[in-house]
Amino acid sequence: TPLREAEGRASAAAKTENAKVIDLAKVAKDRGIKYFLISYVDLFGGLRAKLVPAAAIGPMQKEGAGFAGFATWLDMSPADPDLFAVPDPTSLIQLPWKEEIGWLAADLYMDGKEVEQAPRTVLKRQLAAAAALGYEMKTGVECEYFLITPDGKSISDTSDTAEKPCYDQSALMRRYEVIKDICDAMLKLGWGAYQNDHEDANGQFEMNWNYDNALLTADRHVFFKYMVKSIAEQHGLRATFMPKPFINLTGSGCHAHVSLWQKGKNAFSDPKGELGVSELGYHFIGGLIHNADALCALTNPTVNSYKRINAPRTISGATWAPNTVTYTGNNRTHMIRIPDAGRFEFRLADGAANPYLLQAGLAAAGLDGIANKRDPGKRLDINMYTEGHKVKGAKRLPLNLLDAMRALEKSKVLTERLGKPFVDGFLKLKTEEWNAFSRHLTQWERDNTLDI
Ligand code: ADP
Ligand code: MG
Ligand code: MG
Ligand code: MG
Ligand code: MG
Repeated sequence: TPLREAEGRASAAAKTENAKVIDLAKVAKDRGIKYFLISYVDLFGGLRAKLVPAAAIGPMQKEGAGFAGFATWLDMSPADPDLFAVPDPTSLIQLPWKEEIGWLAADLYMDGKEVEQAPRTVLKRQLAAAAALGYEMKTGVECEYFLITPDGKSISDTSDTAEKPCYDQSALMRRYEVIKDICDAMLKLGWGAYQNDHEDANGQFEMNWNYDNALLTADRHVFFKYMVKSIAEQHGLRATFMPKPFINLTGSGCHAHVSLWQKGKNAFSDPKGELGVSELGYHFIGGLIHNADALCALTNPTVNSYKRINAPRTISGATWAPNTVTYTGNNRTHMIRIPDAGRFEFRLADGAANPYLLQAGLAAAGLDGIANKRDPGKRLDINMYTEGHKVKGAKRLPLNLLDAMRALEKSKVLTERLGKPFVDGFLKLKTEEWNAFSRHLTQWERDNTLDI
């Protein structure tokens, strides 16, 4: 269909052109859409929406759906005027399990101006900065998740108890009905779904689809999380992307694979470069290495995130999550892995990362690496879990959210690139969250302090 082709291939500029000519009222008639979900993602990654009947979509497409911004996780005041979510018609996805509903990602406006702290806008600006240099960023994400009981207390499959459950065929197939519904949906949507597996923790799964333009990947990432949760619910289960829901099991990462493209060619690819990666690619990696601690506030944005990274061995034998700011070849114990020519994998991010801020952070740090020709240093080919302590000079990742937030606060690079209104707003809300956590009295404190 023309809309899907436009979605899949168009450059940012062409997308904007398409957006202008797509008439959602007509699309609704042609495709039998009765309702639109006009949605946006707030700073904490929450998906917010209004359900709009197709008969009312005309003016909503132009002016946007109205929201009270303060009622969601945005740095706003209850006294602020309406926040308008203006849908991007090229983002349209008909819910594969209920096609009469059309989902739309929206951009936020207030008083006629773009809201600078809006995550999708933050990402679009980074991609525009890349485009100004002639590059299109393309990414793929691997969103691990757990299928748990509706009360959230345990994994849902009581037979899933293997010590090394990764790729366990029986455990995968006991969840075939759910996995199939999700994968069928991705196939129908034309995402290029290509594999599904049981992951390294009991109850944990991963489903992969093809990389594409970073904004398209981010929109799909948002929709994927919603879809997995919705379809799991239809099967009487609950899905969680929480980074470390069970302390002794491997956590849920959200690895991101990255390449920059110029005139249809992969600019990270160079047959003469080390591991087939170009100098440009290594500068981008250098930017991630240089900015890693501050980036953590975006890629590992919750208190719980820090129980996945820097973690002790899990029951399966390895956490598969990094502890140090290092890169390597095809080796899964480092922050960055180069699995193949022409791209790298960023293994730091977790399931709590806001899909837009994850991509925006990668772009900002990587473009800083390119602008300043940052040197990533030497590749390490060691097992970081067993030999990491021997490496001199490698930076450790932040040990908790507060350290990461302080690193972001200090980061001139990320503040300049991502914009002060966004960084200030994000840190303000995250500081309130950290303070709420700090005020919480834990059982651990009682166990270790009561008799002191
Ligand atoms: P692994 O588990 O080995 O890390 P997966 O197959 O689970 O790898 O995920 C790989 C992801 O990387 C997919 O989304 C894939 O489309 C994406 N990818 C492959 N090549 C590139 C590339 N050149 N640029 C960006 N992403 C890529
Ligand atoms: Mg009202
Ligand atoms: Mg994978
Ligand atoms: Mg995985
Ligand atoms: Mg991976």
